[in-house]
Amino acid sequence: MAKKVLIIGAGGVGNVVVKKCAMMPEVFGDIMLASRTLSKCEKIASEVTTTRIQTAQVDADDPQNVVALIERFQPDIVINVALPYQDLPIMDACLATGVHYLDTANYEPKDVAKFEYSWQWAYHERFKERGIMALLGCGFDPGVTGVFTAYAAKHYFDELHYLDIIDCNAGNHGKAFATNFNPEINIREITQRGKYYENGQWVETDPLEIHKAIHYPEIGERESYLLFHEELESLVKNFPTLRRARFWMTFGQQYITHLMVLQNVGMTRIDPVMYKGVEVIPLEFLKAVLPEPASLGENYTGQTSIGCQIKGVKAGKERTYYVYNNCDHAETYTEVQAQAVSYTTGVPAAIGAALMLTHADWMKPGVYNTEEQNPDPFMALLNKHGLPWHEQIDIELPHTY
Ligand code: NDP
Repeated sequence: MAKKVLIIGAGGVGNVVVKKCAMMPEVFGDIMLASRTLSKCEKIASEVTTTRIQTAQVDADDPQNVVALIERFQPDIVINVALPYQDLPIMDACLATGVHYLDTANYEPKDVAKFEYSWQWAYHERFKERGIMALLGCGFDPGVTGVFTAYAAKHYFDELHYLDIIDCNAGNHGKAFATNFNPEINIREITQRGKYYENGQWVETDPLEIHKAIHYPEIGERESYLLFHEELESLVKNFPTLRRARFWMTFGQQYITHLMVLQNVGMTRIDPVMYKGVEVIPLEFLKAVLPEPASLGENYTGQTSIGCQIKGVKAGKERTYYVYNNCDHAETYTEVQAQAVSYTTGVPAAIGAALMLTHADWMKPGVYNTEEQNPDPFMALLNKHGLPWHEQIDIELPHTY
């Protein structure tokens, strides 16, 4: 029987999740989109012609507000694509009402630019006892990168030793400076210290200190910067044979220059500043004047390329494996009026929720990351729902080793 899904957050990613869920009527019979600004929900709903999308206003910082909405709509699952600050209040509301949960980014407190899974993993026993499941970080990275790694471990390796996640956006949106997902979250992520895992320890770097040119399929070489990214934390825990795990992301020189200036003048600060008698947080104000991620889609050209490069052993022999997806901004705009960064996040969220509701081995009470699930049905659905992947076995991985 088709299920009911409540999607929270009507931004760039929420737009994709709604439209992709509407394309799976056999799984999602009833869809509600709720967010802080009702008009944004209504706009997205009006663009879906095949199914009626219900809409609602919700302040997801307040668990009681979410509980009231869940009690009214009675969903089987909540897909949280609001901001990481709302993860815990929405998980609390799911616990109170006994509803499954999925998100795409791990919790971070508003007043410290620090993201880690500890806060959400702490819900494991309570979700288990309640008989409900939470799937954490089910976008592309995190999300598909965990599925890719699990797929490699299941089919190609006895032991994983080295993992490099490489994320390239070679698109051009024609704006002098804009971020591809929520600017506040994006800038907090990039301006903090870098970190990678090596020989059982975390090694810290200055922000954007380590960088090199990496080759991306169909794109070519792009300067790529080592960042800490949340899936590294769960992947080294779930694949303890890993000796090193790193994450690389491309940035153009123009982007870095803008970011440096904004940082140097204090516009990326997250502590309050008094201005004309009112407390203002510079980064929140900056978000208000930057383009919204959802608005970048039109005229965006070029591709993204995200993948996992892995080295390890199989049957006593060294082996390399590279699995990736390339996604085209203009094609995703034609399909669902979204740029590829929103698309590559929203499609996996819809797939993850569909698997939780329909696949017996995907539904287990407790709190899990994507790599703890059977990767095979997820990989099959990526091909079916617009994110085809490619693999290269035992090829040279010259740029990351
Ligand atoms: P946007 O800023 O475009 O959208 C966020 C939406 O959440 C907005 O519509 C916003 O409402 C709404 N919102 C914010 N606060 C609340 C609240 N208290 N109650 C209800 N709604 C609220 O961001 P994106 O769509 O780009 O990103 C969404 C999420 O996806 C983020 O958590 C981001 O970190 C994550 N992400 C994950 C990726 C992955 O690969 N795993 C990649 C990219 C993003 P309003 O419009 O009123 O401000």
